[in-house]
Amino acid sequence: MARIRFSALEQMSGRTAVERGKKQRVSDIYGADVLTLEKMRHYLSVEAFKKLEKIMFQGGTIDRTLADQVAAAMKAWAVEKGATHYTHWFHPLNGATAEKHDSFIDVLKDGNIIESFDGKLLVQQEPDASSFPNGGIRNTFEARGYTAWDPGSPAFINNNTLCIPTVFVAYTGEALDYKTPMLKALALIDKAAVDICQYFDKDVRKVTATLGWEQEYFLIDEALYNARPDLKLCGRTLMGHSAAKDQQLEDHYFGAIPERVNAFMNELENECYRLGIPAKTRHNECAPNQFELAPIFEEANLAVDHNQLLMSTMKRVARHHRFRVLLHEKPFKGINGSGKHNNWSLLTDTGVNLLSPGKNPKSNMQFLIFLTATTRAVLEQEALFKACIVSLGNEHRLGGDEAPPVIMSVFLGRQLAAILDEIEQKVSSKKMSPDEKTELKLNVGRIPEIMRDNTDRNRTSPFAFTGNRFEFRAVGASANCGAAMIVLNAAVAQQLIAFKKETDALIDKGVKKDEAIFQVLRKYIIACKKIRFEGNGYSKEWQEEAQKRGLSVDNDCITALKAYLAPKAKKLFVENGVFTERELEARFEIKNETYLKKLQIESRVLGDLALNHIIPTAISYQNTLIENVKGLKEILPDVYAEVGNVQLESIKEISRHIKEIKTMVNEMTEARKVANNNFPNEVERAEAYSVTVRPYLEKIRYHIDKLELLVDDEIWPLPKYRELLFSR
Ligand code: ADP
Ligand code: MG
Repeated sequence: MARIRFSALEQMSGRTAVERGKKQRVSDIYGADVLTLEKMRHYLSVEAFKKLEKIMFQGGTIDRTLADQVAAAMKAWAVEKGATHYTHWFHPLNGATAEKHDSFIDVLKDGNIIESFDGKLLVQQEPDASSFPNGGIRNTFEARGYTAWDPGSPAFINNNTLCIPTVFVAYTGEALDYKTPMLKALALIDKAAVDICQYFDKDVRKVTATLGWEQEYFLIDEALYNARPDLKLCGRTLMGHSAAKDQQLEDHYFGAIPERVNAFMNELENECYRLGIPAKTRHNECAPNQFELAPIFEEANLAVDHNQLLMSTMKRVARHHRFRVLLHEKPFKGINGSGKHNNWSLLTDTGVNLLSPGKNPKSNMQFLIFLTATTRAVLEQEALFKACIVSLGNEHRLGGDEAPPVIMSVFLGRQLAAILDEIEQKVSSKKMSPDEKTELKLNVGRIPEIMRDNTDRNRTSPFAFTGNRFEFRAVGASANCGAAMIVLNAAVAQQLIAFKKETDALIDKGVKKDEAIFQVLRKYIIACKKIRFEGNGYSKEWQEEAQKRGLSVDNDCITALKAYLAPKAKKLFVENGVFTERELEARFEIKNETYLKKLQIESRVLGDLALNHIIPTAISYQNTLIENVKGLKEILPDVYAEVGNVQLESIKEISRHIKEIKTMVNEMTEARKVANNNFPNEVERAEAYSVTVRPYLEKIRYHIDKLELLVDDEIWPLPKYRELLFSR
């Protein structure tokens, strides 16, 4: 077995950077593989183009004639660019992207073929998609699902295939993907935010949520990866003793990018540019062999599509460079895991970032409404904010090195906190004197000055205000950002709607508009104090403080998921038309099912590795020691016990670990059996696995890692942490 490890190390040491593709100006290739609206213009009649443009910006349905014209345009463009196939591209609830390619060909009566693609195929398809998670929504006898084009996201070409971004719904109309409810949440916040903006600027007609994700990932050499069955099957290492050196010296972070990695990044970015993904920043992250890519932010729906596309492109490109990319939230114990910070804001069609302090008191009042509404949304839907980011992988990451804790809190920074305090003190339900009002407005007007160059940073907050946006940092590296975007946008919309209702009620009673706004603002400021936290989120004190405040502190995926079924979630989602009750239940079931399946796989892989790789290796080394002691006894019969003391101790120690491993693997297998037999319901089974199976993974690993330190390096079968993390 150790042969594989050493041959991998040898292969690895011979690698050099491979620059692929020719160097081209970014502006020449940017969006080359995307059918932008602008390009559509060349393929459509003026009238059709106008209709399509309107639907793209304002929504609406596409009639059959327009669909036929658009389909013909798409085909013409795609075929010109060498595409041979087309596919509806969607995001089922397994977290990946799905595509089923069909070629454009059609056979004519005379036996010749033509390339064809009509409106019917563009607008809607009916994939036999019975194997996607559906949470009981579809029975196999009606396994039909529909995909329907989302005109908000442009078609693109990938692998000679025209990819058409689509939503994915069941035969009965229920959503089976992330996009469908996300589009509803985005429409909800658009309306709610426009209504607030109307207090300040009648010209605002549309508000778009913007998202800039930061994608963290690890790169591991292909040969080493192939020598680690746990990485291959689970995406993370289930065992491995810490390397003597990992990230203590912080010498990787922002360091010079290794050459082979740089070549990978060059090709990846090239692909991104062709696909219209505005990749902007790249750097080494904290952990060795960990990196990050961040684009310029975009409209949230498009940004989510781009992130999904990036993840699959990364995996593909990594292979060209003999790397494997790890998107798991915690591939290695003891060092940083990978997250996907979701930078989020709201942008009006008049070009105003609603989370950026403005130039005068009026725009700052507007800013403060959005700031406090967002903060209060996190408080009110605290449980959902957690539920939308938890997963088996993220369970390992959250609360750990450089990762936000599992307790939801909002960081606003000292300067803003001071302004909020002032409003709280100065405003009351009494009528304000003109002087009081002027003073308050003056101070509110000064927000941008005090904030400039002054926004403090708090890396330990799961939800931080960073000057002109919020950063939701708890999202996992492998997650579809859609899940977080649904909760965030719907929850903020809910607060904005409530804010408006309260303010309007005061105005109706005769309170002046600006005073009414200040009064409601004050209520919001007071209400959201409970969720605000400026200190060190990693500290013990915060855990205690959070508990006192009544915030939930547990780090347990299965418990957190229950929030999807809580009355608060139903009130938010069902009342606002983002999810039906049935869809919420389905989502809840799917998340549990995924947790269960992944945990089951981890448990099986660990069992296999423990019994078939680790124990035999330990025994073989123990035999060497036994031979050695026997030899000592033969030549030094009187003193062998003293001379061979270390060997004898090791022999015993190895036996102890082997026994523990074997016993616990058996117990773990038994725990799986019991859970499988006793809980036919997958949700209950997931919980049983989480309670009875999961703890064994750590306990077994402990003994394996101890053996790694005892056994001769020459025969250890799996690449060690120092090899995985420092080979590039
Ligand atoms: P940091 O590491 O300091 O958080 P980065 O530059 O790595 O900063 O990432 C910042 C991310 O925030 C980028 O993806 C950027 O596009 C995004 N961003 C900046 N402004 C906004 C905004 N108004 N809305 C959404 N995302 C934004
Ligand atoms: Mg950031």
